[in-house]
Amino acid sequence: MRAVDVIEKKRNGYELTKEEIEFMVNGFTKGDTVADYQMSAFNMAVYFRGMTDQEATYMTHAMLRSGDVLDLSRIKGVKVDKHSTGGVGDKTSLVVGPIVASLGAKFAKMSGRGLGHTGGTLDKLESIPGYSISLTEEEFINQVNEIGIALIGQTADLAPADKKLYALRDVTATVESIPLIASSIMSKKLASGADVISLDVKVGSGAFMKNVDDATKLATLMVSIGKLSGKKMSAELTNMDEPLGLAVGNSLEVIEAINTLKRCGPKDFENLCVDVCAELLYDAELVSSLEEGKKKSKEQIDNGKGFETFVKWIKAQGGDVSYVMDTNKFPKAKYVVEVKSNKSGYISKIDALAIGHASMCLGGGRAKLGDTIDHAVGVVLTKKVGQPIEKGEVLAYLHSNTENIDAVSKTVLEAFTISDEIVHPQLVLKVIK
Ligand code: URA
Repeated sequence: MRAVDVIEKKRNGYELTKEEIEFMVNGFTKGDTVADYQMSAFNMAVYFRGMTDQEATYMTHAMLRSGDVLDLSRIKGVKVDKHSTGGVGDKTSLVVGPIVASLGAKFAKMSGRGLGHTGGTLDKLESIPGYSISLTEEEFINQVNEIGIALIGQTADLAPADKKLYALRDVTATVESIPLIASSIMSKKLASGADVISLDVKVGSGAFMKNVDDATKLATLMVSIGKLSGKKMSAELTNMDEPLGLAVGNSLEVIEAINTLKRCGPKDFENLCVDVCAELLYDAELVSSLEEGKKKSKEQIDNGKGFETFVKWIKAQGGDVSYVMDTNKFPKAKYVVEVKSNKSGYISKIDALAIGHASMCLGGGRAKLGDTIDHAVGVVLTKKVGQPIEKGEVLAYLHSNTENIDAVSKTVLEAFTISDEIVHPQLVLKVIK
């Protein structure tokens, strides 16, 4: 087989075979039979011609087989996992994990670090002193069997083809191809070994997918790849035209997650967590309807069982639970600066991308891999879309360790759109099964 023939076939719009796709992915990953410039041309052909669900599934499997595949068969019970395509203020795993674990599901998850304007679950968890993101496979499996939940960093050898391919896509204008995004995400998800997967595809200014049509295509393809691989799948399209919840920034988000497990979190965030829990519990056959899943998940918040499991989880991974019991112990930023509204009306939009950038500029995120981050800083909104605001009222607090943050204050102020008409926000736009 020759790379040039496979590229030409895709360029001319024909469907590729399993062998042809494996030849491209394997040859490129090993670096012997497919050169970087050939893989770049292949990616561009896929960008313009697309892929069938079957081709995207072959692509996913070739990428997942390029490295370690976690064997979770020694975990008793149904293994569940969730993935979000990257939002601002998205701390859903911290709440969903303990709730579903407290109801009998096994939440065995690998997460990533944050880059750019989106935060990473690992960075958030590391704001709890002592929390270890690396467990051996044995420790990971034992912990999930004992308390129902473990959350660690991705092993270095999880889908190495994806790392190499993503770096190439990044510099050849082919990141935005839906089959390439779907196979990239699903190769890592399938390598992590869960039986049930819930996807949260963000839509809007702060997200990869800017409109519902593209997000629907991406979610439908990922669900289809998962099902063709024998997994139970669900996907929700959720609105990222405002950050999720109120807090954006590492320890600020952990505190918000803890408050949510103690019945004092923002309602939009709590409702989304309950929805995701219900999807996972239903697909894991631990409840007989989504309604029952929602009811039981809410009960675990009200009766404190979700919080109890959160405490057990943090303790098991070496975290200092005194911070969880008393969130005042988290180190505070030196300055808390108010951003006040310059007009009255109703909040109609909060640009999530701008708020994510503001948090990054304060030191809460990384501009490039390897940057160190400040866990204490970030942005806490006081208002959400649909709420009224008076001129001079506080819209947000900036938690900063630097004094002069006028430019960040301006960014945050400009992130708010205030109109005369009331707007009714809709968080979950669509569910795809
Ligand atoms: N996230 C991924 O993991 N891969 C992509 O291609 C895009 C977003």
